Amino acid sequence: MPDARLTRRGLFFTAGAGVLGVAVLSGCDSAKPPPAPPSAPPPSPAEVGAWKRVDLSYVSAYLLVRGNEVAVVDLGTPGSEAAIEEGLKAAGQSWAAVKHVILTHQHDDHVGGLAEVSKVVRASFYAGILDVDSIITDAGLKPVKQGDEVFGLQIIDTPGHTLGHISVFDPSNGVLVSGDALRTNTGSLTGSDPRYTTDPVRAAKSVKKLAKMDIKAILPGHGGPVLVDAAGELQRLAASLA
Ligand SMILES: [Zn+2]
Repeated sequence: MPDARLTRRGLFFTAGAGVLGVAVLSGCDSAKPPPAPPSAPPPSPAEVGAWKRVDLSYVSAYLLVRGNEVAVVDLGTPGSEAAIEEGLKAAGQSWAAVKHVILTHQHDDHVGGLAEVSKVVRASFYAGILDVDSIITDAGLKPVKQGDEVFGLQIIDTPGHTLGHISVFDPSNGVLVSGDALRTNTGSLTGSDPRYTTDPVRAAKSVKKLAKMDIKAILPGHGGPVLVDAAGELQRLAASLA
């Protein structure tokens, strides 16, 4: 049962640029810091199934490994392909295993790696039907919309941030990859950044729509994952919006 084995392994990791965020204080022999207090145990890895995060510092890409195949959601800023490749390697995979690449929306910090990746990866590439034409590529993007399924994942229309913005829901474990419909880089769960939102009214509606779903974990485009009380956080956010 390769799937179960993957599920029990540690799931979230950082790769590439994310590693640079770790400060190593060594050589401070005279003033050693006290030992770190025991921290709370991390949430059960089973809650996020086989999803893996590639932390590209400013933005994240996500990998879903199932058996010998991989789906990738978002490709980061231009040049992110190397860090995503490291993430694949850390998961015991390679670009050859990637069969599906889903782009949540047209912005450069999510499709930046597309030019390089589409040259070397034999995969199907997907984006929301209203964003497809804004993404310049030779990849042969397939338009997707609410109700479509890719690799067992449900496409959820979440317009607002862009008109063709989509999120990806994994019904096997309740994981939502939210793109920029939701973010946590403000320190808590928040909706689309108003500075980059095409239609704020639709963006708020999309949050309310997501709040009605049975979501167990949120993997946002910007900021860390929400692994505890994701549905509750989402409902409180939705209630706070006009
Ligand atoms: Zn973004």
